[in-house]
Amino acid sequence: MKIRHNVKRGNYGFLDSKDISFFESVIGKRNLLQEDLDGYNVDFLRSVCGNSQLVLKPGSVKEVSAILKYCNERKLAVCPQGGNTGLVGGSVPICDEIILSLQRINRIISIDQITGITVCESGCILENLDNKTREVGLVVPVDLGAKSSCYIGGNVSTNAGGLRVLRYGNLHGSVLGVEAVLASGQIIDLMSDFKKDNTGYHLKHLFIGSEGTLGVITKISLLCPPKSDAVHLAFLGLSSFDHVLRTFINAKRYLGEILSSCEMIDAGSLEASVSHFKLNAPIQGYPFYMLIESSGSNASHDLEKFNEFLENGMKNGEILDGTVTAELSKIQDIWKLRELVPVALVNNGYCFKYDISLPLREFYNIVNVMQDRVGDLAKCVCGYGHLGDSNLHLNISCEKFTEELYNRIEPFVFEYTCKVKGSISAEHGIGFLKRNYLKYSKSPESIKMMRSLKKFLDPNGILNPYKVLN
Ligand SMILES: Cc1cc2nc3c(=O)[nH]c(=O)nc-3n(C[C@H](O)[C@H](O)[C@H](O)COP(=O)(O)OP(=O)(O)OC[C@H]3O[C@@H](n4cnc5c(N)ncnc54)[C@H](O)[C@@H]3O)c2cc1C
Repeated sequence: MKIRHNVKRGNYGFLDSKDISFFESVIGKRNLLQEDLDGYNVDFLRSVCGNSQLVLKPGSVKEVSAILKYCNERKLAVCPQGGNTGLVGGSVPICDEIILSLQRINRIISIDQITGITVCESGCILENLDNKTREVGLVVPVDLGAKSSCYIGGNVSTNAGGLRVLRYGNLHGSVLGVEAVLASGQIIDLMSDFKKDNTGYHLKHLFIGSEGTLGVITKISLLCPPKSDAVHLAFLGLSSFDHVLRTFINAKRYLGEILSSCEMIDAGSLEASVSHFKLNAPIQGYPFYMLIESSGSNASHDLEKFNEFLENGMKNGEILDGTVTAELSKIQDIWKLRELVPVALVNNGYCFKYDISLPLREFYNIVNVMQDRVGDLAKCVCGYGHLGDSNLHLNISCEKFTEELYNRIEPFVFEYTCKVKGSISAEHGIGFLKRNYLKYSKSPESIKMMRSLKKFLDPNGILNPYKVLN
């Protein structure tokens, strides 16, 4: 593990026994942890490790409010934590911040079958919430590989993207309202039951994607679309990135409104998940693969469209081989090939991960450019991701972290992204790992405005310090 902590501790208070007694009086002794905190201090990538001595697990918004009010008065720094699956070091403390876990605030309050509006607390695990909504014919409009561990509050706080942004848009559109607790302890009710609500400033958006730096989200109102009756998934082999692009254009043209996901994996990424998890890929031996999913309401009509799309792609030589299925277990097996790529790469030594938006014409160039830059220093340079959203996950895996490799990659990767007018963080956020590079995607004026907002909402800077802004 590389602990990149070249950070000077902020001017915050130090915990003492009176603080512990206060927290115990608010949440009860058993909801406060002071030992075995490794799982809370270290992030998923094992690239950031804090030194927190205290985890608090409040059970209600009132308890969160009491904790933050106290911390603000005592100037104790706090790191809000959901499922701790974040990939930018935002969910773990950097120094000795108190970890505020949302784990116990996890009730599903209501699911309205007619409107699709689901109201829940922020500690609900994404997969559990999705399973509950499916019971009444709905789905949660966000889906990602970490669904069995991440919380919906973490998803909203990072404005998580995932596999179906192409279909449902990002969470700024699906979240109708939030309840949040400010650093002062003030509870702010921004809940709404309506898609259309143009009454003044849209304050909820401040909390969507602000990574726990402006407030702690405790409740969410989410618009859930109907579950599709007919789902088809194709796994395709292609010989060049040019053919990947043409296949994407054709998928949009032929599948139209039923296209629900368009992902790309290169050979190195597929090899990682296949070999690490001993999976069977339906086809192998191609430089590029695509997963193209349709979700509609009429299986035979959708399959007809799908077949026409595939026949055309094969006739033109763009698609070399492939398989299409409507069988749930096969669909799940194919998705695993894609969803387990990040996990496989991380478990294979150390992995430098970059989550960037790039113009589609430039999408894959950076993988080749990076391969040339790092040469033999890396085990594997590969790219996969949400092609349909212009979002590439560039991964450089190696035996272990070295400064030499790090310096070959950063800041070059961000400079390159900036030069082609991409975004240095497509969906994972800025967190701790990218805070020094925000300037590559935001103008000095916007960073200044972000600082003013932070100062206004959290004057003592107690909420998730060292994150997003440096
Ligand atoms: C295998 C794998 C696949 C992934 N795939 C994707 C993907 O496709 N798309 C994608 O966008 N991300 C992906 N991620 C990243 C990660 O899952 C998301 O960022 C997710 O939204 C984080 O949720 P979490 O509950 O784990 O939050 P955490 O990791 O605990 O926290 C993330 C950030 O949100 C803050 N936070 C958490 N909860 C709250 C709250 N209630 N109030 C205020 N702040 C809060 C934290 O302080 C931190 O800054 C993946 C991760 C893994 C491990």
